[in-house]
Amino acid sequence: MSDVMEPVETFRQRARVWLKDNMPLAKDAPVRRAEDPAGPHFQRCRELQGKLWEGGFAGICWPKEYGGLGLSMDHLRAFNDEAVDYELPLSLNVPTFGILGATLVAFGSHEQKSKYVPKILSGEHQWVQFLSEPSGGSDLAGVLTRADRDGDTFVINGSKIWSSFAEISDYCMVLARTNWDVPKHRGLTMFIVKIHQPGIQIEPIRMTYGSAEFCQEFFTDVVVSIDDVVGEVDEGWTVASSLLLQERISLGGGSQFTVGAGMNRESSGTDYSILKLARSLGQADDPMTRQAVADYHATAHAHHIMSDRVTRAIGKGIMNPSSGSLLKLAHAITSEKHAQATVDIGGSAVVVGGDNRGEARDLGNRTLTRQGIALGGGSNEIQRNIISERVLGMPREWAGDVDVPYRDVRRSGGGATGPKN
Ligand SMILES: Cc1cc2nc3c(=O)[nH]c(=O)nc-3n(C[C@H](O)[C@H](O)[C@H](O)COP(=O)(O)OP(=O)(O)OC[C@H]3O[C@@H](n4cnc5c(N)ncnc54)[C@H](O)[C@@H]3O)c2cc1C
Repeated sequence: MSDVMEPVETFRQRARVWLKDNMPLAKDAPVRRAEDPAGPHFQRCRELQGKLWEGGFAGICWPKEYGGLGLSMDHLRAFNDEAVDYELPLSLNVPTFGILGATLVAFGSHEQKSKYVPKILSGEHQWVQFLSEPSGGSDLAGVLTRADRDGDTFVINGSKIWSSFAEISDYCMVLARTNWDVPKHRGLTMFIVKIHQPGIQIEPIRMTYGSAEFCQEFFTDVVVSIDDVVGEVDEGWTVASSLLLQERISLGGGSQFTVGAGMNRESSGTDYSILKLARSLGQADDPMTRQAVADYHATAHAHHIMSDRVTRAIGKGIMNPSSGSLLKLAHAITSEKHAQATVDIGGSAVVVGGDNRGEARDLGNRTLTRQGIALGGGSNEIQRNIISERVLGMPREWAGDVDVPYRDVRRSGGGATGPKN
């Protein structure tokens, strides 16, 4: 194949024809209720991704060497414009493509990328990140899960929590402590681990509306090879920081690794039309309702424009990569506004439970979980800390454990020395 990049317009025309002949229309997609089990939905996403892969449209901006197309963001935007009416595997965007795929491309060895990237792009493998722990997620560098070196292997023990769709995923990246004698950010390592194997117990966590998308995992003497280290041993914080950045960018809607509208709109619930809700309740002429709809749409539009502007500026090096937190925060604020407008307009129609069925009930379910978006990928408070310290250059938050060997740091849950230490 020639190394000359296909012109965007030619690519767009090809995509238009191919999409029409191969992809189902979004309006015909099966309805997925919030409380439905996730398995069948993700299976369908994997099949849709398989179609993109077979058709030569998977991984538009991913490296060619590992199965991607090696094209530009303009090609991706052109494809997304053409694909707007078609059903796409949006649920694979976060975390598989935008977070773990992006991290693998940035830090994986040639062998790791050759082995895993094609499986991700063909829809065969779903991934998730195992970062948060029961002792707390915001202080990510304080993880207590440990990986002890034994020759060319490591033995992992500990527990991770809030892992999205872990039970139906195939591989994960696990952040574990490999060195207790250095300050907390310097003794961490990131590992690739096959999820379904002896030694890993997965416990689903049931949500308020009945589904169980989160899991807690327990690691007991899980052996991994040194070949499964992502980046360098004890340098896992560098990998984790980049992973978190990719998470913010993808959740904010600006990743080059995702497909379709940029983020998983389905998980945020923002593709449910509050205008439709207002009309169905006969409230479209009510001034308060009109105000709520207009307010939400203005916020969503500003988010969309900012997302595009910040993504381009980060790409060109004009803005610091930490500016990805602006996108994540804006996404959370927009989603929160959507949830609030839903309740203001819907009132008792969005009450969950009983005989209430249909889209209004789904909006109620989404409202119950609205705070998840302000927590997942780092809370709003943490995004504001990052923006103030790393984007605006304000003084750093004080921390007493930054220069202390981690085994001497006082912490809850593991005493002063941590488990088995
Ligand atoms: C939808 C969703 C998906 C998720 N998916 C995953 C996943 O796939 N993998 C994974 O590993 N984790 C996942 N998480 C977990 C997520 O990363 C954590 O919930 C998040 O990092 C916050 O950690 P925590 O819940 O332990 O809260 P804590 O860290 O205990 O924080 C509690 C509260 O204190 C505030 N706070 C903490 N520190 C500060 C500070 N320094 N300054 C100001 N305020 C502070 C926080 O903002 C928060 O309001 C997910 C969470 C959600 C909601």
